[in-house]
Amino acid sequence: MSRFAGKVAIVTGGAGGLGGATVRRLASEGARVVITDLARAAGEALARETGGLFLSHDVSSEAEWRTVVDRALEIAGRIDVLVNAAGIEGNIAEGGLETSYENYRNVLSVNLDGTFLGCMTVMRHMMAIGSGSIVNISSAVSFMASPSGLAYGISKAGVEQLTRTLAIVGARDGKQVRCNSVHPGVIRTRMTDSIVESYAAMTGASPAEAEAAICADIPFGARGEPEDVAAMIAFLASEDARYVTGSQFKVDGGWTVPSAG
Ligand code: NAD
Repeated sequence: MSRFAGKVAIVTGGAGGLGGATVRRLASEGARVVITDLARAAGEALARETGGLFLSHDVSSEAEWRTVVDRALEIAGRIDVLVNAAGIEGNIAEGGLETSYENYRNVLSVNLDGTFLGCMTVMRHMMAIGSGSIVNISSAVSFMASPSGLAYGISKAGVEQLTRTLAIVGARDGKQVRCNSVHPGVIRTRMTDSIVESYAAMTGASPAEAEAAICADIPFGARGEPEDVAAMIAFLASEDARYVTGSQFKVDGGWTVPSAG
Protein backbone atom coordinates (compact mmCIF):
# COMPACT_ATOMS: atom_id res chain seq x y z
CA MET A 1 0.00 0.00 0.00
CA SER A 2 1.15 3.56 -0.62
CA ARG A 3 -1.62 5.55 0.98
CA PHE A 4 0.86 8.26 2.04
CA ALA A 5 2.90 8.69 -1.14
CA GLY A 6 3.87 12.37 -1.36
CA LYS A 7 2.52 13.09 2.14
CA VAL A 8 4.38 14.55 5.09
CA ALA A 9 3.58 13.47 8.65
CA ILE A 10 4.75 14.74 12.04
CA VAL A 11 4.71 12.11 14.80
CA THR A 12 5.43 13.36 18.34
CA GLY A 13 6.76 10.83 20.83
CA GLY A 14 8.02 9.18 17.66
CA ALA A 15 10.87 7.45 19.49
CA GLY A 16 8.44 5.74 21.87
CA GLY A 17 6.41 2.55 21.65
CA LEU A 18 3.20 3.69 19.94
CA GLY A 19 4.87 6.62 18.19
CA GLY A 20 7.65 4.39 16.83
CA ALA A 21 5.23 1.79 15.46
CA THR A 22 3.28 4.63 13.84
CA VAL A 23 6.41 6.10 12.25
CA ARG A 24 7.29 2.69 10.76
CA ARG A 25 3.73 2.11 9.51
CA LEU A 26 3.36 5.55 7.87
CA ALA A 27 6.86 5.35 6.33
CA SER A 28 6.13 1.84 5.00
CA GLU A 29 3.15 3.32 3.18
CA GLY A 30 5.17 6.10 1.58
CA ALA A 31 5.03 9.00 4.05
CA ARG A 32 7.96 11.28 4.75
CA VAL A 33 7.91 11.32 8.54
CA VAL A 34 9.19 14.03 10.86
CA ILE A 35 9.90 12.24 14.14
CA THR A 36 9.89 14.48 17.20
CA ASP A 37 10.80 13.44 20.74
CA LEU A 38 12.94 14.28 23.75
CA ALA A 39 14.80 10.98 23.20
CA ARG A 40 17.40 12.00 20.64
CA ALA A 41 19.41 8.78 20.18
CA ALA A 42 16.36 6.57 19.64
CA GLY A 43 14.71 9.18 17.42
CA GLU A 44 17.78 9.61 15.22
CA ALA A 45 18.15 5.82 14.87
CA LEU A 46 14.53 5.52 13.77
CA ALA A 47 14.95 8.40 11.32
CA ARG A 48 17.91 6.56 9.74
CA GLU A 49 15.87 3.33 9.58
CA THR A 50 12.79 4.93 8.00
CA GLY A 51 14.37 7.65 5.88
CA GLY A 52 12.69 10.30 8.00
CA LEU A 53 13.88 13.37 9.87
CA PHE A 54 14.38 13.67 13.63
CA LEU A 55 13.81 16.90 15.54
CA SER A 56 14.48 17.22 19.25
CA HIS A 57 11.28 18.58 20.79
CA ASP A 58 9.57 19.17 24.11
CA VAL A 59 5.86 19.15 23.23
CA SER A 60 4.99 21.27 26.27
CA SER A 61 6.93 24.23 24.83
CA GLU A 62 5.00 26.58 22.53
CA ALA A 63 8.26 28.03 21.18
CA GLU A 64 9.58 24.56 20.30
CA TRP A 65 6.33 23.75 18.48
CA ARG A 66 6.80 26.84 16.30
CA THR A 67 10.36 25.75 15.52
CA VAL A 68 9.28 22.18 14.65
CA VAL A 69 6.55 23.37 12.28
CA ASP A 70 8.84 25.96 10.65
CA ARG A 71 11.59 23.33 10.16
CA ALA A 72 9.13 20.75 8.77
CA LEU A 73 7.74 23.29 6.30
CA GLU A 74 11.24 24.43 5.33
CA ILE A 75 12.44 20.87 4.66
CA ALA A 76 9.30 19.07 3.47
CA GLY A 77 7.17 21.96 2.22
CA ARG A 78 3.85 20.81 3.74
CA ILE A 79 2.29 18.93 6.63
CA ASP A 80 -0.56 16.54 5.84
CA VAL A 81 -0.71 14.47 9.02
CA LEU A 82 -0.06 15.17 12.70
CA VAL A 83 0.00 12.32 15.22
CA ASN A 84 0.24 13.52 18.83
CA ALA A 85 1.72 10.44 20.53
CA ALA A 86 4.07 12.01 23.11
CA GLY A 87 2.87 11.32 26.62
CA ILE A 88 3.82 10.44 30.17
CA GLU A 89 2.18 8.42 32.91
CA GLY A 90 3.44 10.71 35.67
CA ASN A 91 4.24 9.45 39.14
CA ILE A 92 2.25 6.21 39.31
CA ALA A 93 2.90 5.87 43.04
CA GLU A 94 0.50 8.81 43.50
CA GLY A 95 -3.22 8.25 43.01
CA GLY A 96 -6.54 9.51 44.38
CA LEU A 97 -6.11 12.04 47.18
CA GLU A 98 -2.35 11.38 47.23
CA THR A 99 -2.02 13.10 43.83
CA SER A 100 0.23 16.12 44.24
CA TYR A 101 -0.42 19.30 42.33
CA GLU A 102 3.11 19.03 40.93
CA ASN A 103 2.39 15.60 39.44
CA TYR A 104 -0.98 16.78 38.11
CA ARG A 105 0.58 19.83 36.42
CA ASN A 106 3.43 17.77 34.99
CA VAL A 107 1.09 15.19 33.43
CA LEU A 108 -1.28 17.81 32.06
CA SER A 109 1.56 19.92 30.64
CA VAL A 110 2.82 17.07 28.45
CA ASN A 111 -0.34 15.08 27.66
CA LEU A 112 -2.90 17.86 27.32
CA ASP A 113 -0.97 21.12 26.81
CA GLY A 114 1.43 19.35 24.41
CA THR A 115 -1.48 18.05 22.32
CA PHE A 116 -3.24 21.44 22.44
CA LEU A 117 -0.12 23.27 21.26
CA GLY A 118 0.50 20.75 18.47
CA CYS A 119 -3.06 20.97 17.20
CA MET A 120 -3.10 24.77 17.34
CA THR A 121 0.23 25.22 15.59
CA VAL A 122 -0.21 22.60 12.85
CA MET A 123 -3.91 23.19 12.25
CA ARG A 124 -3.31 26.80 11.19
CA HIS A 125 -1.14 25.47 8.37
CA MET A 126 -3.64 22.72 7.48
CA MET A 127 -6.53 25.22 7.38
CA ALA A 128 -4.50 27.38 5.01
CA ILE A 129 -4.08 24.46 2.58
CA GLY A 130 -7.66 23.26 3.24
CA SER A 131 -7.03 19.68 4.33
CA GLY A 132 -5.16 17.47 6.74
CA SER A 133 -5.60 14.81 9.40
CA ILE A 134 -4.79 15.06 13.09
CA VAL A 135 -4.79 11.93 15.23
CA ASN A 136 -4.54 12.46 18.98
CA ILE A 137 -3.66 9.59 21.29
CA SER A 138 -6.04 9.67 24.23
CA SER A 139 -6.65 6.47 26.24
CA ALA A 140 -9.30 3.93 27.12
CA VAL A 141 -9.24 5.49 30.60
CA SER A 142 -10.88 8.62 29.17
CA PHE A 143 -14.10 6.55 29.27
CA MET A 144 -13.72 5.39 32.89
CA ALA A 145 -12.99 6.81 36.32
CA SER A 146 -9.37 6.07 37.07
CA PRO A 147 -8.55 6.91 40.72
CA SER A 148 -5.08 5.33 40.59
CA GLY A 149 -4.15 7.49 37.61
CA LEU A 150 -6.18 10.56 38.48
CA ALA A 151 -4.09 13.17 36.66
CA TYR A 152 -3.48 10.88 33.68
CA GLY A 153 -7.22 10.18 33.24
CA ILE A 154 -8.05 13.88 33.37
CA SER A 155 -5.38 14.65 30.77
CA LYS A 156 -6.73 11.99 28.40
CA ALA A 157 -10.37 13.09 28.81
CA GLY A 158 -9.15 16.59 27.94
CA VAL A 159 -7.50 15.27 24.77
CA GLU A 160 -10.80 13.64 23.76
CA GLN A 161 -12.76 16.89 24.21
CA LEU A 162 -10.06 18.94 22.46
CA THR A 163 -10.28 16.55 19.51
CA ARG A 164 -14.04 16.66 19.04
CA THR A 165 -14.03 20.44 19.37
CA LEU A 166 -11.27 20.93 16.80
CA ALA A 167 -13.11 18.59 14.41
CA ILE A 168 -15.86 21.23 14.20
CA VAL A 169 -13.35 24.04 13.73
CA GLY A 170 -11.56 22.04 11.02
CA ALA A 171 -14.77 21.63 9.02
CA ARG A 172 -15.51 25.38 8.85
CA ASP A 173 -15.53 27.35 5.59
CA GLY A 174 -15.54 24.23 3.42
CA LYS A 175 -12.22 22.98 4.86
CA GLN A 176 -11.56 19.31 5.55
CA VAL A 177 -9.09 19.24 8.39
CA ARG A 178 -10.06 16.07 10.25
CA CYS A 179 -9.38 15.44 13.91
CA ASN A 180 -9.93 12.09 15.64
CA SER A 181 -8.78 10.44 18.85
CA VAL A 182 -7.46 6.91 19.38
CA HIS A 183 -8.00 5.27 22.77
CA PRO A 184 -5.56 2.42 23.40
CA GLY A 185 -6.19 0.02 26.26
CA VAL A 186 -3.11 -1.73 27.70
CA ILE A 187 -0.47 -1.93 24.99
CA ARG A 188 3.02 -3.46 25.32
CA THR A 189 5.37 -0.44 25.56
CA ARG A 190 7.81 1.03 28.09
CA MET A 191 4.86 2.79 29.73
CA THR A 192 2.96 -0.39 30.59
CA ASP A 193 6.19 -2.37 31.27
CA SER A 194 6.81 0.12 34.07
CA ILE A 195 3.25 -0.39 35.39
CA VAL A 196 3.72 -4.20 35.39
CA GLU A 197 7.09 -3.80 37.18
CA SER A 198 5.65 -1.45 39.83
CA TYR A 199 2.72 -3.79 40.45
CA ALA A 200 5.14 -6.71 40.93
CA ALA A 201 7.31 -4.64 43.28
CA MET A 202 4.34 -3.44 45.35
CA THR A 203 2.59 -6.83 45.67
CA GLY A 204 5.52 -9.27 45.58
CA ALA A 205 3.97 -10.93 42.51
CA SER A 206 6.19 -12.48 39.82
CA PRO A 207 6.37 -10.59 36.48
CA ALA A 208 4.03 -13.19 34.92
CA GLU A 209 1.55 -12.87 37.81
CA ALA A 210 1.68 -9.07 37.62
CA GLU A 211 1.05 -9.18 33.87
CA ALA A 212 -1.91 -11.56 34.37
CA ALA A 213 -3.39 -9.35 37.11
CA ILE A 214 -3.14 -6.21 34.95
CA CYS A 215 -4.80 -8.00 32.01
CA ALA A 216 -7.47 -9.76 34.12
CA ASP A 217 -10.28 -7.41 33.05
CA ILE A 218 -9.39 -7.41 29.34
CA PRO A 219 -11.65 -9.82 27.39
CA PHE A 220 -8.74 -10.72 25.06
CA GLY A 221 -6.69 -11.47 28.20
CA ALA A 222 -3.42 -9.87 27.10
CA ARG A 223 -1.76 -6.58 26.29
CA GLY A 224 -2.11 -5.34 22.71
CA GLU A 225 0.90 -4.63 20.49
CA PRO A 226 1.98 -1.15 19.30
CA GLU A 227 1.31 -2.23 15.69
CA ASP A 228 -2.38 -2.76 16.58
CA VAL A 229 -2.64 0.92 17.47
CA ALA A 230 -0.47 2.06 14.55
CA ALA A 231 -2.86 0.35 12.12
CA MET A 232 -5.79 2.38 13.49
CA ILE A 233 -3.78 5.60 13.40
CA ALA A 234 -2.76 4.95 9.78
CA PHE A 235 -6.38 4.38 8.80
CA LEU A 236 -7.47 7.67 10.40
CA ALA A 237 -4.54 9.55 8.89
CA SER A 238 -5.31 8.22 5.41
CA GLU A 239 -7.88 9.14 2.78
CA ASP A 240 -9.70 5.89 3.66
CA ALA A 241 -11.07 7.91 6.58
CA ARG A 242 -11.91 11.00 4.52
CA TYR A 243 -15.47 11.21 5.95
CA VAL A 244 -14.38 10.51 9.55
CA THR A 245 -13.88 13.38 11.98
CA GLY A 246 -14.56 14.15 15.63
CA SER A 247 -14.71 10.46 16.56
CA GLN A 248 -13.17 8.23 19.21
CA PHE A 249 -11.60 4.88 18.29
CA LYS A 250 -10.87 2.28 20.96
CA VAL A 251 -8.06 -0.27 20.46
CA ASP A 252 -8.42 -2.11 23.75
CA GLY A 253 -9.22 -5.83 23.32
CA GLY A 254 -12.75 -5.17 24.63
CA TRP A 255 -11.51 -3.71 27.94
CA THR A 256 -14.08 -0.89 28.08
CA VAL A 257 -17.13 -2.88 26.96
CA PRO A 258 -19.61 -2.91 29.86
CA SER A 259 -20.43 -6.56 30.59
CA ALA A 260 -23.37 -7.97 32.56
CA GLY A 261 -21.40 -11.19 33.05
P1 NAD B 1 6.42 5.50 25.53
O1 NAD B 1 6.95 5.93 26.84
O2 NAD B 1 6.99 4.31 24.87
O3 NAD B 1 6.47 6.71 24.48
C1 NAD B 1 6.23 8.04 24.85
C2 NAD B 1 7.24 8.92 24.14
O4 NAD B 1 6.93 10.29 24.44
C3 NAD B 1 8.68 8.67 24.60
O5 NAD B 1 9.51 8.43 23.48
C4 NAD B 1 9.06 9.93 25.32
O6 NAD B 1 10.44 10.27 25.19
C5 NAD B 1 8.16 10.96 24.65
N1 NAD B 1 7.94 12.14 25.48
C6 NAD B 1 7.64 12.18 26.80
N2 NAD B 1 7.53 13.46 27.20
C7 NAD B 1 7.76 14.23 26.10
C8 NAD B 1 7.80 15.63 25.89
N3 NAD B 1 7.58 16.51 26.87
N4 NAD B 1 8.04 16.08 24.64
C9 NAD B 1 8.28 15.21 23.63
N5 NAD B 1 8.28 13.87 23.78
C10 NAD B 1 8.02 13.39 25.01
O7 NAD B 1 4.85 5.29 25.79
P2 NAD B 1 3.70 4.82 24.79
O8 NAD B 1 2.99 3.73 25.46
O9 NAD B 1 4.20 4.65 23.41
O10 NAD B 1 2.75 6.10 24.86
C11 NAD B 1 2.43 6.88 23.71
C12 NAD B 1 1.11 7.60 23.95
O11 NAD B 1 0.08 6.62 24.06
C13 NAD B 1 1.05 8.40 25.27
O12 NAD B 1 0.31 9.57 25.07
C14 NAD B 1 0.31 7.47 26.19
O13 NAD B 1 -0.32 8.18 27.23
C15 NAD B 1 -0.67 6.84 25.22
N6 NAD B 1 -1.25 5.58 25.67
C16 NAD B 1 -0.47 4.47 25.84
C17 NAD B 1 -1.08 3.30 26.27
C18 NAD B 1 -0.30 2.02 26.46
O14 NAD B 1 -0.89 1.03 26.91
N7 NAD B 1 0.97 1.96 26.15
C19 NAD B 1 -2.45 3.26 26.51
C20 NAD B 1 -3.20 4.40 26.32
C21 NAD B 1 -2.60 5.57 25.88
